[in-house]
Parts: sequence; C-alpha cells; structure tokens
Amino acid sequence: MNKEEKNLKIRQSIQDTRKRHQTMDCKTYEIKVLHAKLNKDQKTTINTMFREAKWLRNFHIANNIDKTFRSTRVVQIKVQDHFEKRRISNLGSQMIQDVFDNIKSELKGLKTKKDKSGKGGKLSFKSVCNSISLRQYGTTFAVKDKHHIRIQNIKKPLYVKGLKQIPKKAEISNAKLVRRVTGLYIYITCFIPKEEIVKQNKMVGIDFGIAHNLNLSDGRVIDIKLLDDKMISIYSKRLNRSFIKNGKLRSKNHFRRASLLQKAYRKQNNRKYDRANKVLHDLNKSYDLIAIQDEMIANWHKGLFGKQVQQSCMGMIKAKLKANPKVIVIPRSFPSTQICPKCGATTKHPLSKRTYDCPHCGYHHPSRDIKSAQSILDYALLM
Ligand SMILES: [Zn+2]
Repeated sequence: MNKEEKNLKIRQSIQDTRKRHQTMDCKTYEIKVLHAKLNKDQKTTINTMFREAKWLRNFHIANNIDKTFRSTRVVQIKVQDHFEKRRISNLGSQMIQDVFDNIKSELKGLKTKKDKSGKGGKLSFKSVCNSISLRQYGTTFAVKDKHHIRIQNIKKPLYVKGLKQIPKKAEISNAKLVRRVTGLYIYITCFIPKEEIVKQNKMVGIDFGIAHNLNLSDGRVIDIKLLDDKMISIYSKRLNRSFIKNGKLRSKNHFRRASLLQKAYRKQNNRKYDRANKVLHDLNKSYDLIAIQDEMIANWHKGLFGKQVQQSCMGMIKAKLKANPKVIVIPRSFPSTQICPKCGATTKHPLSKRTYDCPHCGYHHPSRDIKSAQSILDYALLM
C-alpha cells in the first residue's frame, strides 16, 4: 500500500468513527492513580514526562508555533542565560504531536474569545505543565484489567481506582493524564450508545426555584444545602499574606499555602459533585421521563456571595439533566409560571406571592412552583 492509499484509508476511518459517535453520548470519567502503589521508576518517568511536555510547550511558543517542529524530539531550552539542547525521550510521538495541537486549539479559543468580547490575551510560557494528552487508545494508553492502566513509555501498568464507573458497552476514545495537588488522575473520555426514551407512567416536571431548589410536579421538593467552606477564606487570606509580608512575591511558604488552598477548593468541589450526583441518581431512578425548562440559572442571586456554591451545584444538575436521554427540555419562551392549567390564560405573579390564583377562571394552587412544574410537564408531553 502506498502512502496516498494509506492516508485515504485513515481519513475514511476517522469519518466513519465520527459518524458513529454522533448517535452516542460522550462522557468523561475520573480515574485516580494510587500514588502509594507507584514504584520509584514510575514516579521518575511520570515527572519527566510532565517536564518534557513543559519544555515542548515553551519551545513551540518561543518558535511562534512553527509547524515544521510539530513532531520534533529535540528542543532548545533556556537555562539561566544560555540555551541548551534537550532530547524528549519519555513522551511518545503521538503525545508530542498533541502538545503542538493543543497549543493550536488554545490559540483558536483565544481568537474566538477576542472576536466575541474584544479581550483575548496571549499564550505565555509555563513554569509547570500538569496535563498530557493520551489520544490513541491501544497505543498511548490501554485499560489492562479492572485496576490497571498501561501508559506508553511507563514501565508496568499503573494501579488505578474508579474503572468500574465505565460501562461495559462504552467505547473508549481518548484520555488525559493530569497532575493535581490531590494526586495523579486519568480522565477517560468514552462514547456510550444512547438509550431510547420509553414514555411510561412515571413522568415528572421540574421547576428550578429560589424558595425551594427543585420543585417536582408530583409535589416533592428537593433542597440543596451547601455552605462555603470556611477553610477557603482562611487559606486565601494566608496566601495573600505570603505576598505582602516579605515585600517580595514568593515567601518560603508560598507554594505550600497555594497547594492547601487548591486542596480546599477541590474538597468543596467534591462535596458539590457528590450532592449533585445524589440528586441526579434519585431522579434517574424514580422517573422514566423528566421535563425541565431551559432557563438561565446564572442570573439568580446575582451578587449574593454565600449562595455561589449552591448555585453552581444547581447549574451542574441542570447541565447533566440536559445531557440525559430521559430528559425533555422545553423552550425558555414558554410562560410556565404564568399559565393557568385550566383555562390557558397567563397571569403575572410577583415573586412574593407563593400561591397561584387565576383571575379568569378561579383556579387555585397552593404552590406556584409546583404548578409551574406541572405546566412544564404538560407542555413537554405535547411536544
Ligand atoms: Zn384560569
């Protein structure tokens, strides 16, 4: 087979895969690498890989992202006042090309941002690099068994936790090796066949509200109580102090304090995800069909600081619901809070009024939010 035929074949197979994935759901799973189970050799290799990815990134930026260096294995790096040549020996060729491609797509993102808002910014050199793309399943990485993942150039598979989240029928697409203060993670992106919606009797409409977070059309209410983590404000105050006290940028404790703050944020996020996942699981288990309205959660409580966590948790629940095949999303324009289910007339109700009363036909509902959830469900069933 000559080169042209080979390229044609590759292009064809990429197109086929893309077509197949369009009918599937895309999901990313977080897999944790157990640090205690890494041997000395593996730790060194992983650290070197991140360092090499940093060199490559900075090299490409210094060379104005020159396409001829896309798969280079030799880079020039600046050491104090002179340049030295370094060889990239721990990254596979696909990973090397991905560093280049990722910078390209970052640039693209910056450009669209600039076109949209006028503010863009530019790419800067990095002192650390904390993520490496693993793109070719089977070559750059592979799942060995329920606790092991093999990564190209790392001797022996890594012991991981969390692989059982991935369903059996999932098609693994690509992954990312990410280093955080809380440890080493592999994010695996999969494609899962979509399930068909079966319209049965267990249907529900959900109205997202302020008095109660989730109002369900069958009368249930779900509230999410999440408080801001106190440690976050304590740690960020301490971090700020490490700037001011010595009059220079980095005190001895700066990095330690920064990582404590990052850990606290991470912990709060985990609590948020946990709460959101529990609510989602509950809804998923109890109903065959869920109707929600597409509205902007970000507009609520604008400027109210203490509610931020709760709010972002709600945003997450909504985003995940939207991606669920059981969920029907009705348009924002439908006046779910105003419409009367009996006569269809719309009446504006001020936020302070918690009941619903129709002046045209006398219809009354003790909770305006639950009535609104019922209207959302009714509309969704007509769609
Ligand atoms: Zn009415």
